[in-house]
Amino acid sequence: KRAKQSGHAELYQAGDSVTARQRFSLETELRRAIERDQLHLAFQPLIELSTGRVIGFEALARWDHPEKGAISPVDFIPVAEESGLIVALGRWALRAATRTLAEWDRRAGAPLPVHMAVNVSAVQFQRDDVVSAIKAALTESGIAGSRLKIELTESCIVTDPDGIARVLRAIHGLDVTIAMDDFGTGYSSLTYLQRLPIDVLKIDRSFVAPMLHDRDSVAIVRAILGLASALGMATTAEGVESEALIETLIGLGCDIAQGYYFARPLPSDEAFAYLRSRPA
Ligand code: C2E
Ligand code: CA
Ligand code: CA
Ligand code: CA
Repeated sequence: KRAKQSGHAELYQAGDSVTARQRFSLETELRRAIERDQLHLAFQPLIELSTGRVIGFEALARWDHPEKGAISPVDFIPVAEESGLIVALGRWALRAATRTLAEWDRRAGAPLPVHMAVNVSAVQFQRDDVVSAIKAALTESGIAGSRLKIELTESCIVTDPDGIARVLRAIHGLDVTIAMDDFGTGYSSLTYLQRLPIDVLKIDRSFVAPMLHDRDSVAIVRAILGLASALGMATTAEGVESEALIETLIGLGCDIAQGYYFARPLPSDEAFAYLRSRPA
């Protein structure tokens, strides 16, 4: 599956000295890229299905390597996680995303009614003080906590449920919204959903994309939507590529959608222009 997603998959097979060396060089280059500020963010709009309004953006890391060209986060995020570089990368992403939102506000002449969603890795939760990283980003940018959303995966919870509960409560204390990313693909127990201050369930693309031709996917998405509604959580569907899918999701009561049908992840200027071109 990995090989299909990327041309770099061969770099990560263990037990091969050549690939180990290549992997090491990718790590070295990633460290340098972070230090030299050579990563950037792309911004994909989040659309409220009941109104068609853009209510936020997900910030997604991008690395344009000088020789190798664009390297996918599917390839470099795992390298960052295994090497610990994810702490620096994650702090950078929080600062860059909130800084961009502040810049859009300045350009618009007033705070825009949109939020920024930033991915936080499970490894970052383990190794860094995420609360202080968030505080620093909010203070530096002047962005209100209510305009920041953190996307975490279920693997965060599996490793240390009590620790994560404390951290999430502290994040909530900053007014920051918490979304469970790739919901349904991990292994966490449903009891954690009840115990943790999670505001949004984000339904993984692997359930959403096949809905039009696969009844089981529809059943799973419907069940997730029912669960979220019963627990008072909002829902976001990722990987929405067609109008027919949007209609299906509206029919099932999903709140927010994200996908190529609306827009791909866009450079900052294009994301700002997209926002301005849509109904307010
Ligand atoms: P994710 O958090 O699940 O992000 C959604 C991914 O789905 C993005 O891939 C996005 O470009 C893609 N996508 C959105 N709509 C569609 C669609 O309609 N069709 C298809 N086929 N794909 C769609 P991307 O940008 O390649 O990122 C991949 C993963 O890398 C992310 O998955 C996330 O887990 C990770 N990632 C990216 N940036 C960061 C970051 O700053 N920090 C951390 N920790 N992880 C990141
Ligand atoms: Ca995400
Ligand atoms: Ca996903
Ligand atoms: Ca994810």
